[in-house]
Amino acid sequence: MSTSNTINLKNRPSGQPALTDFDFSSTELSDVQEGELLLAAKYVSVDPYLRGRMSDAPSYIPPFELNKPITSGVVAEVVDSKNDAFSKGDYVTGELAWQEMQVAKADGLMKVDENKAPLSAYLGVLGMTGLTAYHGMMEIGKPKAGETLVVSGAAGAVGTIVGQIGKILGMHVVGIAGTDEKVEMLKSEFGFDEGINYKTTENMTKSIANACPNGVDVYFDNVGGEISDAVLFNINKFSRTINCGAISVYNNTEAPKSISVQPFLVKKSSLMQGFIVFDYVDKHPEAIKQLSEWLEQDKLHYTETIREGFDQIPQAFLDLFEGKNKGKMIVKL
Ligand code: NDP
Repeated sequence: MSTSNTINLKNRPSGQPALTDFDFSSTELSDVQEGELLLAAKYVSVDPYLRGRMSDAPSYIPPFELNKPITSGVVAEVVDSKNDAFSKGDYVTGELAWQEMQVAKADGLMKVDENKAPLSAYLGVLGMTGLTAYHGMMEIGKPKAGETLVVSGAAGAVGTIVGQIGKILGMHVVGIAGTDEKVEMLKSEFGFDEGINYKTTENMTKSIANACPNGVDVYFDNVGGEISDAVLFNINKFSRTINCGAISVYNNTEAPKSISVQPFLVKKSSLMQGFIVFDYVDKHPEAIKQLSEWLEQDKLHYTETIREGFDQIPQAFLDLFEGKNKGKMIVKL
């Protein structure tokens, strides 16, 4: 019987996760049964939301089990198939284990074509993070040309796509990120109008006001916390806030001390709505079609931070909380 290297969740982290929360082991691979595939992982996605699944607090998705493999978006090559819809040599993507090799049911996996886009893109711009940017903007942001969009976590996988969608749709776009290099990248490579380095800016509320002379109509919130509090002081009448994520508080051990949003929303007749990308599963095909068209038309660009080697997966995940990625963080095997 053959075996595979596997990464398991060893501890439920308290606060910032650490390498000691992960455990490498060897898993025996079962024989491939009818309907199943033997897969070799090629690209593994690491994502901030995995932090939530490492805790056992109730959420929209079950927690990872201790001493069992962690799962995330993976692109894998089919090495053996007992499913008529898949052949050896095909590439598939879906939620799979952090294992070099694995036997998996084909249900829920989608074939991807490396001739249409690089395989890693199916974990980013043409995968979960691209869909998140698109649905959040279209379903909740309801952008209009001439309006002002602010996006936090702007230099990451979701944020870089959000800002470009704003530009494609004719908005004034302001990105908030954690280094001057990222701010420069947003403007020079992704066409953002303005950028703010939240780590060096003395007064976020004023910096946002300066970058948004007409106020904020749409706020795509990837980070929560104090950055998002500062945006509230600048929102316009009938503005929309898209609560996509709150990475600034994912590692908190105590409830964050945020300001009360209600008076701001009342005064500005403003909407604030959270969402999970899977709320819009029925609209995934139209989103992928539009994102692919924009890519082909050279209107949409993306960047990736690619780490190499199976053993680098936990560190790549930890580095998301240190801002060490530009665009989508991916590990190549
Ligand atoms: P990113 O690629 O943006 O990576 C995370 C980035 O967050 C880092 O690069 C870092 O950039 C920034 N960051 C880290 N710590 C902090 C902090 N304390 N305060 C402010 N910024 C911080 O991740 P994704 O694009 O994959 O995800 C972005 C957000 O969207 C996350 O909150 C994620 O959970 C959420 N999400 C939600 C989905 C949904 O369905 N609702 C689906 C997918 C993602 P910097 O250098 O700028 O600090």
